[in-house]
Amino acid sequence: MAALRRLLRSPARACFLPQCSAGKRLISSAISEPELRFPELLNHRQFPDRKDSSDRDVRWVFLGCPGVGKGTYASRLCNLLGVPHIATGDLVRDELNSSGPLAEQLRGIVNQGKLVSDEIIVNILAKRLEEGEAKGESGFILDGFPRTIKQAEILEGVTDIDLVINLKLREDVLVEKCLGRRICSQCGKNFNVASIESKGEDGRPGIYMAPLLPPSGCASKLITRADDTEEVVKERLRIYNDMSLPVEDFYRSRDKLLEFDLPGGIPESWPKLLDLLNLSDQDVKQSAAA
Ligand code: ADP
Repeated sequence: MAALRRLLRSPARACFLPQCSAGKRLISSAISEPELRFPELLNHRQFPDRKDSSDRDVRWVFLGCPGVGKGTYASRLCNLLGVPHIATGDLVRDELNSSGPLAEQLRGIVNQGKLVSDEIIVNILAKRLEEGEAKGESGFILDGFPRTIKQAEILEGVTDIDLVINLKLREDVLVEKCLGRRICSQCGKNFNVASIESKGEDGRPGIYMAPLLPPSGCASKLITRADDTEEVVKERLRIYNDMSLPVEDFYRSRDKLLEFDLPGGIPESWPKLLDLLNLSDQDVKQSAAA
């Protein structure tokens, strides 16, 4: 913990008061300026041990620009591997749709395409991990966290991440994908109405992505995320390049980064991603049955 505390010596800032008991304990004891110890929430209680990675469930991270498909591929892998998919964007949206004290503040931040502060996001994630721990969850794939070097350092201080998958797509395609994104307001599933056909240029191959259309039951219930407008998507991309690209370097320098250039939509990309990970649907089903 001493190393973690050293990491956290930063100017005191306003801190979200979390609802969970560990959070309350922390806040009551922790804000002794100038040291802010909010990340103690992400302590060994949520990450029980540092066992050899072959001896426990996976702890993976998905990185990538807005709209690249982190949620799609992370949730598919989670289904295959039987670990929880923890997407901080979803946690933030749950919080802003609640009547909690943070809802309005978060709405303002998210709808402008800005990042939520490290303190708030760590608190929200810690609460989710505590709930998972209480249900006996083990392992995870994190999607959308860490997004700043500070978050990456905090995570590194509390657990060993095995692998970081960095999904990549051209920026013009990312914007089109975000603008075509739709969510079923009833079941929460993601779809995409955009049909993307982008010509190859500068020696890079062209890319085709078929729309991912909803079944008839969802078709009349589609909504668009408030932050999926062209202006906000461009701001989110700018912020990604500014704040989150350094996180790629953070993991690259630790030899944990696996780069994956998406060759197309799900039918083209999913089998290639499984190959890269030395996984196949079949293998995983067999090992689950054993
Ligand atoms: P994206 O499509 O941009 O990857 P997400 O659904 O992951 O979107 O996140 C939505 C919003 O939630 C972000 O724009 C940001 O405001 C907030 N958010 C999610 N994760 C983080 C994080 N790790 N740090 C700060 N803000 C976050």
